[in-house]
Order: sequence, then C-alpha cells, then structure tokens
Amino acid sequence: MTPLFTLEGKKGLVVGIANEHSIAYGCARTFRAAGAELAITYLNAKAEPYVRPLAEGLGSPIIVPCDVREPGQLEAVFAQIQREWGHLDFLLHAIAFAPREDLHGRVVDCSQAGFGIAMDVSVHSFIRMTRLAEPLMPQGGCLLTVTFYGSEKVVENYNLMGPVKAALESVVRSMAAELGAARIRVNALSPGPIRTRAASGIHRFDELMEHTAARTPQRRLVSIEDVGALAAFLVSDAAAAITGGIHYVDGGYHIMG
Ligand code: NAD
Repeated sequence: MTPLFTLEGKKGLVVGIANEHSIAYGCARTFRAAGAELAITYLNAKAEPYVRPLAEGLGSPIIVPCDVREPGQLEAVFAQIQREWGHLDFLLHAIAFAPREDLHGRVVDCSQAGFGIAMDVSVHSFIRMTRLAEPLMPQGGCLLTVTFYGSEKVVENYNLMGPVKAALESVVRSMAAELGAARIRVNALSPGPIRTRAASGIHRFDELMEHTAARTPQRRLVSIEDVGALAAFLVSDAAAAITGGIHYVDGGYHIMG
C-alpha cells in the first residue's frame, strides 16, 4: 500500500534548533525520516558546536548561522537556498525570545523595549521568513510556526509571551488568507509544555509541567517526537487543504475547562 504521505524530494528549512531537546530538532528528525532534505540554522558561533553535529547527523547540505536580530542574516539564508536548491517546499520557524526581566514580571510592567524585542524575534521574524520564502515557492509550500495555549488563556508565569503568541497566531491567519491562492499554506503547532532551553526561562516551569500532566485528558506530557509527527504531516501533500490553523498536540489539555 502507498503510504499516506512522504516528504521524499521535498526541501525544507528548519530554524530553531539549539540542542537535541529542541522542538525544532524533533521536527527535523521526523522531516528527515520521511525523506526531506533540510537546511538547518544555528543562532551564532556559540551555538554552532551544539547544532552542527545534529545537522550533520541529518545529512543537511546547508548549515548556516541565523540570528534574526542581525541585519542581513535571514536574507543570506534564503539567498543560499536560492543558489543551492532554487526553491523551497516548507519551513519551520521554532524560535522565541523575551528579555528575562520582562518575561518574569507582570504584563502590566513589561518594558516598551522588551515588548518590542519579544515581538520582533518571536513574531515579525516569521513574517520576514514568509516574505523571503514566497518567491521560492512558485508551486506552493507550507510554513509552520510554534505557539502555546498561553496565547488564549492566562497561564501563570507565561506573562509577556501570552500576548506575543496571540499576535503570532493572528499573523498565521492573516498570512494564510493572503497566500492561500498561491497554494502557500501557513499553520501553527501548539504543543503542551516540553522541557527545553527556552522553557527553562519560564518561572516555575516544573510546576506547569506537573499541573498539565495531572489535568491533561491523556494524563501525560507530550514529546518532541509527538510534535514532529504533526509537523511532518502538515508540511506533506496529505495536508494540502489545511491552512490557517492552530493545531494542538497537547494530549487534549486545551479542551479542559
Ligand atoms: P529551544 O530553546 O530549544 O529553542 C528556541 C530557539 O529559539 C533556539 O534555537 C534559539 O537559538 C532560537 N532563538 C532565540 N533568539 C533567536 C534569534 N534572535 N534568532 C534566531 N533564533 C533565535 O526551545 P523550544 O521550546 O524548542 O522553542 C521552540 C518554539 O516552541 C518557541 O517558539 C517556543 O515558544 C515554542 N513552544 C515551546 C513550548 C515548550 O514547552 N517548550 C511549548 C509551546 C511552544
């Protein structure tokens, strides 16, 4: 029987691997296992020794730096993809950042500068990536980002990232509407809490994990492999009619009142 989907022959860009615990790495492994060829970025020289071996393990032909705050770096990534591949089938944006002092305080108290940085790295970078990807997707494609339930309900200690993820989800809907006719799909994955480096910046994250595991219908936490399985499906042709959505992979947590 023909499998429901394969990513054989597809080329994808993965932005957001910091280490083997990263959600982006779980997704990259699944994309690769399904047959895709991947371009992988690392934040900077300090991150490179952690990311490069993982990217090499996935046989990535393009391994390049990308700090979205550095002028020109994102453009350079897409220029290299244009030169080496000539097109792109999908990308995963799995990055977020907020200055610690703003992340740990009340939303009421967050600084103008901190709010701006968090929105720039976590939201506007996805808009920029989409704009750069569009000309590389003449036959259509799929853009994925990663959000969290704290966008729609107040999750204790998620603070500033709540409004930031709400904006990200709204951007997903707007861009999906704008690019739908070009057969470019835009979707967000919404995983439950996972122990990663970014997550360790959230105050009392362990308590959030415990609370979630106890209240989740499936009585378990999710893994980066769970997220990768959903991501691989969404970027495949099997999901050709799916766009503009916020797709939970959270053991059902979001249905609980
Ligand atoms: P992670 O620390 O493994 O990944 C975060 C990535 O963001 C890192 O690779 C880091 O280098 C990158 N990044 C930060 N600033 C950057 C910049 N200026 N330019 C380029 N890259 C930058 O953590 P993660 O949990 O895998 O985070 C991935 C995404 O998943 C984030 O958007 C996060 O908000 C989201 N998410 C995480 C959870 C969770 O519980 N871990 C749940 C839902 C959503």
